[in-house]
Amino acid sequence: MSERIVVLGSGAGGTMAANRLDRELGGLGEVVVVDRDPTHRYQPAYYLHPFDHLSLDDHVRDGREYLRADVQFCEATVTGIDPNERQVTLDAGKLSYDRLVVSLGHELVGEVPWRGEPHVYPFYRPEGARELATTLDRLVARHGDGEADAVSTPARDPIATDGAGTASANAPLPAADPADPLRVVVTEPETPMSCGGAPAKAALLAEDYLADHGVPCEVTLAGPDAHVFGTGKKAKYDERLTTVFDERGVEHVPEFTVADVADGTVTGTDGRTLPYDLYLPVSPQRCPRVLTDASPLTAPDEASREYVAVDEATMRHREFDRVYALGDCTDAPTSRTAAAARKQAAALADNLTADATGRAYEATYDGFAACPLLTEKGKAILAAYDYDGATLPAVESRLGWIADLEAIPRLYWQVWLRGYLLGV
Ligand SMILES: Cc1cc2nc3c(=O)[nH]c(=O)nc-3n(C[C@H](O)[C@H](O)[C@H](O)COP(=O)(O)OP(=O)(O)OC[C@H]3O[C@@H](n4cnc5c(N)ncnc54)[C@H](O)[C@@H]3O)c2cc1C
Repeated sequence: MSERIVVLGSGAGGTMAANRLDRELGGLGEVVVVDRDPTHRYQPAYYLHPFDHLSLDDHVRDGREYLRADVQFCEATVTGIDPNERQVTLDAGKLSYDRLVVSLGHELVGEVPWRGEPHVYPFYRPEGARELATTLDRLVARHGDGEADAVSTPARDPIATDGAGTASANAPLPAADPADPLRVVVTEPETPMSCGGAPAKAALLAEDYLADHGVPCEVTLAGPDAHVFGTGKKAKYDERLTTVFDERGVEHVPEFTVADVADGTVTGTDGRTLPYDLYLPVSPQRCPRVLTDASPLTAPDEASREYVAVDEATMRHREFDRVYALGDCTDAPTSRTAAAARKQAAALADNLTADATGRAYEATYDGFAACPLLTEKGKAILAAYDYDGATLPAVESRLGWIADLEAIPRLYWQVWLRGYLLGV
């Protein structure tokens, strides 16, 4: 028996699953990975790069180099999936499969109210993160020599999409002195998002970075939820994080939904206003349209949002038994993180191999997800949980920082992406 396993997406979940499958299946199957973009991005770098904790350039690599030698890469855009015909439609033609793995991630919604406004940095896109870094460099440089900055420092890279326009890169810098502190506003979208802790991390790291460089600032995080991080299994991390916000004077504005952005002010649906000098919105996110509109693989959740319908333990599709999915595009009831995708990839690969070889299932995804909540340079709260509850204590530690900045990026590139998926 030789099966063709097609993996859609070569991001975190797709690459981990493809490599693990290639190893487990041995000669029993060929693995083909499809992605429209061979570049692989380590997405946590988006909120680390602006504050000088990690270089985005070091974490944007050719993803093909992380696929095992036998795994084939097909550069193409997926435009439709027909699980009844076991066929994927690509911009380059049709591709049939024996088993399909879907890991197409989250799509950022393009229609946003901040489009074209200056000093807006949607840091869930690499362009927004780079542009924020450039502006912070200019602010710190100006503060250092006390001179008003002209529009002299060019953006490091061309800017594109989602309101992160050259308007921000070239706009005159806002004032920032003790009488007139720099107002930084971070907002969360109403939609589900990848890495739910990232907005809180961005707010705390912004405050830490600016204070550390002597730039007076007032930082605000606003979002639709009542809590900074969450309730239930996240409650004890939320409690600790809220204390950190209070201690550091970072304001949390709960139950705030962005309605409009104009003239340096974010206005909520209830009329509350948040004036800003720098605005760091988290873009709204959704399951990719190709899955919701050109495949029968999605099902609505309780908020009528469509995601790929998987069994939360096996990662097999709930209706189509030769289809499996993992990562941000699924409705597995856990946080959308690379940490979750790693454990999902392990269970998925084992179960797909069991299906292909007629063995019984042995692997189960337990809902594991993790989010190192970076609070300031040198400190982090390591939040981790599974379907049963929290698994680590809610303590701020240097170890958490070292784990997230030193250990995890190396493990990600050199171990986990290559399909070796056990460990913390
Ligand atoms: C700012 C930010 C910070 C984060 N921080 C953390 C963190 O600290 N810890 C953590 O564990 N996780 C973090 N995450 C989340 C983590 O990056 C994601 O959960 C993870 O990448 C999901 O993997 P995935 O395979 O589902 O999607 P992705 O890694 O996004 O991969 C999806 C792939 O599908 C491809 N694709 C999409 N549509 C098509 C199409 N139509 N045709 C062809 N190819 C297509 C894309 O090009 C992409 O390569 C963060 C995310 C962001 C944005």
